[in-house]
Amino acid sequence: MSRTRRSTPGAAPLKVLFVASEMAPLIKTGGLADVAGGLPKALVQQGLDVRVLLPGYADLAVRRQEFDLEAGFVPPADMADAQLRHLPADCAGVPVWLLESPGFSDRPGNPYLDPHGRDWADNAHRFNRLCRVAAQLAGGRAGLAWRPDIVHANDWQTGLTPVWMMLERVDRPVLFTIHNLQYRGDFESGLLPELKLPFWLHHPDALEFHGRIALIKGGLVFADAISTVSPTYAREIQTPDLGEGLDGLLRHRKAVLHGVLNGIDTAAWDPATDGHLPVHYTADRWAAKAEIKRALQAEVGLAPRDDVPVLGFIARLIPQKGIDLILDILPELMALPVQLVFLGSGMPDMEHRLRQACASAAGQAACRIGFDEGLAHRIEAGADLFLMPSRFEPCGLNQLYSLRYGTPPIVHHCGGLADSVVDTDASSLATGTANGFQFAPATSMALLDAVRRALKCYNDKDTWHKIVQAAMAQDFSWAHSAGRYQTIYAQLRAPLQHDPSR
Ligand code: ADP
Repeated sequence: MSRTRRSTPGAAPLKVLFVASEMAPLIKTGGLADVAGGLPKALVQQGLDVRVLLPGYADLAVRRQEFDLEAGFVPPADMADAQLRHLPADCAGVPVWLLESPGFSDRPGNPYLDPHGRDWADNAHRFNRLCRVAAQLAGGRAGLAWRPDIVHANDWQTGLTPVWMMLERVDRPVLFTIHNLQYRGDFESGLLPELKLPFWLHHPDALEFHGRIALIKGGLVFADAISTVSPTYAREIQTPDLGEGLDGLLRHRKAVLHGVLNGIDTAAWDPATDGHLPVHYTADRWAAKAEIKRALQAEVGLAPRDDVPVLGFIARLIPQKGIDLILDILPELMALPVQLVFLGSGMPDMEHRLRQACASAAGQAACRIGFDEGLAHRIEAGADLFLMPSRFEPCGLNQLYSLRYGTPPIVHHCGGLADSVVDTDASSLATGTANGFQFAPATSMALLDAVRRALKCYNDKDTWHKIVQAAMAQDFSWAHSAGRYQTIYAQLRAPLQHDPSR
């Protein structure tokens, strides 16, 4: 398939409503925002007509009030206080509708968590409203001239979209994408009447999950097709190990379950132009990378040394990301000629452990607790190797950034990490495909082994050059993944195509 495929000339462009709970650069807590910021834009560049529906949170990176309300918008009958604000394409790359609604627009802070780090108590109600408006738009009942041909919903926050579309007999196909199955959107089943949903949905073949309801099941059961963000994760979630109790359902729907590796924003993440870097480099103008390394060492408080590699780590500090696997072997790592730099925030006990570990190895290990986009870029560029020991990883973005920045990643063999990183050995070096290092199982000892292997390669100039060149030559632009999504959309629209499992 051509990477720059466009929809058929002359034909009306396919209209897609993309529904998500976060979108870069407007609001971001994780990879979902990067996808919502990148994929719709790439689809528009390929000729599709895409609009995004996003909650109008109080803390968006734009001043919402400066944008017009959709004058003709008709909300669902009992949501009279809901309004849509229209952000033109020059704000976020595609036209965006912001849902102005209580619970979103009047509440500063994290989209999902209160200031104590607990889920907002009314999350089910808030995101139910998003799904109801999505169904209203999909049905052409929102008083607007634009009506989608396809709805593309993402993660549990949008799981009720196909449910409302079914209840309201909206005849538009839905693709539901899983970005992380661990977040199911579990709630008391007693909430169903409050959400204005019929109680028959409390059924194993609908939303019921161990006596409660899981809103992600709305997407998994009622969408016409399902996708997830890498081919390996699409297989892994059909197993009891990573299926989060939903593997049986996913096996049942495997005929319509796709795995599409995410792309990255190659304009924002480009070592040749990155505005967060003091100087720039490419595979051919490589020397400046050493300058960025020195600046990074100074910025985070590492000793100014050219002769040891810096190992970087950036992630939410949660068990999934395997930060404990690194900390468990910190003494062994500190005995090697390496430096470590960590950036992350998350569970307070992990933040505490990381701070303590770095304090005990001052000058050789350093951490920054918090979310810092600029430092994330400088770590990707200034480090020599990148650590990503995630226990599971649906796609993962940082290993893709690392590859593009010539900072070979050391990853646990799982999900999107397995699909994007090629382990270095004699045969992958011979074919020129080696671009990083993989280890399994997800243990500290296997990680330590991989670090030792990586150091050997790092110290062999020719080998290192080959690995870095292969990494930087790869194309992880959204254009490629967007082509895959176009194929799925086309299948969903083909009248004879149907899901045998439904
Ligand atoms: P997840 O969505 O599970 O958090 P991904 O690797 O898919 O993991 O995406 C995480 C995104 O968030 C990446 O763009 C990463 O660089 C960014 N990120 C995570 N933690 C931080 C942080 N503390 N500061 C800056 N960026 C971060």
